[in-house]
Amino acid sequence: MKVIYDEAQKKHYPGFFLTSGARAPNPERPERADILFAAALRAGLTHEVPADFGIAPAAAIHTPEYLEFLANIYARWRHIALASEEVIPNIHPDRRDGAYPLSAVGQAGYHMADTSCPIGPDTFASALRSSHAATQAARLVSRGEAAAYALCRPPGHHAFRDLAGGFCYLNNSAIAAQVLRERTPRVAILDVDLHHGNGTQGVFYERADVLTVSIHADPVRFYPFFWGHADERGEGAGRGYNLNLPLERKTGDEGFLAALDRALSRIQAFAPGALVVALGLDAYEGDPFGGLSVSTPGFARIGGLIGQLGLPSVIVQEGGYICDALGDNLVAFMDGLRASHAVARGVKS
Ligand code: ZN
Repeated sequence: MKVIYDEAQKKHYPGFFLTSGARAPNPERPERADILFAAALRAGLTHEVPADFGIAPAAAIHTPEYLEFLANIYARWRHIALASEEVIPNIHPDRRDGAYPLSAVGQAGYHMADTSCPIGPDTFASALRSSHAATQAARLVSRGEAAAYALCRPPGHHAFRDLAGGFCYLNNSAIAAQVLRERTPRVAILDVDLHHGNGTQGVFYERADVLTVSIHADPVRFYPFFWGHADERGEGAGRGYNLNLPLERKTGDEGFLAALDRALSRIQAFAPGALVVALGLDAYEGDPFGGLSVSTPGFARIGGLIGQLGLPSVIVQEGGYICDALGDNLVAFMDGLRASHAVARGVKS
């Protein structure tokens, strides 16, 4: 399996975010990429630098208004007297169907869901390279590779069509799914990150060709709070094509794997031609966010069960923050996935 990654994804370096109103160091640090990349090599993956696909793959998911905002807002922000070093919103609309503001401050509030996605001088370039990693991994898989790992950093699953949030700017998992859709009529996205994949759900909420399934800490008391509840099932043509499986805080391996079993049953019933795994590793018991309690061997079991589907699979990195076992958890997931994937695909072919 290949790991798709470009060092330029590390240039984005958010300084801080607000947690319970207080300034704290932003945990989505570039060093995450170093740890995950070293772990991918340790797991035996081979490195490939993504090609430059430009803006087109992102434009298949995100609105032109939003992409223009991401590309230009930092330079515009610099012209505001006494503005913060990074772009941080301080006002948000209570409805999104009204007029579009012209001011940088108004647009920041319109396009940024929270304070966890500051925009600095290198943010857009790094996010674009991260999306290229997802695009390249999806292209490899749609052209016959059994699986590929997109080391996407910054991550993407909290980004909606026109809204950044939760360390995310461009929705890499959605971009990968859309690339896969070019060659197969149905694609499933399985999000195992600690946090609900609200952006991904939002992108595909009214579509029946992309099934979105997310296992996460119950948002009734956890980020992203306003999405991720079990009664969100999709709308219009997409009704019944979104499945949320919220878990009690501190749920461990057995509870997580039971939810995964339900998720995989739904995916099998959908009969997709390909799978995107939105791989957050922050459900780990030692992750700084402390939401769930999956163990390192638990990640091997998660990978093993997903691999049993035998589907062509794009693994897209989402969350997972710096702690002793971050790299080990990726190795465990990959070992589990590849062992069972090889068996399942061998049996099928
Ligand atoms: Zn997360």
